[in-house]
Amino acid sequence: MKTIGVIGGMSWESSAEYYRLLNLNAKARLGGHHNARSLMVTVDFAQVEANQRAGDWHALGVQMAEAARQLERGGADLVLLATNTMHLVHEAIEAAIDVPFLHIADPTGEALRAAGIERVGLLGTRYTMEQTFYAGRLHERFGLDTLIPDDEGRAQVHRIIYDELCHGIVDAQSRALYQSVIEDLKTRGAQAVILGCTEIPLLIKQEHSALPVFDTTALHVQKAVDWAIDMDRS
Ligand code: GLU
Repeated sequence: MKTIGVIGGMSWESSAEYYRLLNLNAKARLGGHHNARSLMVTVDFAQVEANQRAGDWHALGVQMAEAARQLERGGADLVLLATNTMHLVHEAIEAAIDVPFLHIADPTGEALRAAGIERVGLLGTRYTMEQTFYAGRLHERFGLDTLIPDDEGRAQVHRIIYDELCHGIVDAQSRALYQSVIEDLKTRGAQAVILGCTEIPLLIKQEHSALPVFDTTALHVQKAVDWAIDMDRS
């Protein structure tokens, strides 16, 4: 199979999940002792998080582009960015490399369309929920309408990601809070919910949710592994 390159570390709690799922998916497709051919560059999340808060997306684009180049130099045939939020600077990454870049929103949009969903709730960081780079892509490419939580819901969802999930803390009260946010999205007409932050699946599984969940981490990895196996055969 082709080699999958991952820009990780945002946070490493979810990058560990990427690594696990890359190998599980490859084993599911190929069987035996097969695992995924992959490499990961882990950036320092402290710098990333500080630049996000400062709104310095230019510096973040430069940093992500450098990580992508490192992966390409290391032999990656495909590059993944293991965070939804940092897709805000996907253009800087795409401009920096010659190998393909698989945008995390695309496998999610495809899966939602295939399930016949038209109106979907979006959970993620404030950047992902409030800026246009994510919902806009889902609308333009997949015709999806996106609903986000109210002010208080967004503040809590964002806080739990940075203060708990990115530190590996999975808390029952926080799960209950996410569950009520999902209930609210359902009442407002959402037919499904996007777990649009790569740490959220650590807290919310399908059995916790009143709506069908679309897990961006799992969908991103599955698409990458399928690509890496199928491109090798074509
Ligand atoms: N992993 C998260 C995401 O998918 C948030 C951490 C970050 O700011 O990159 O958006």
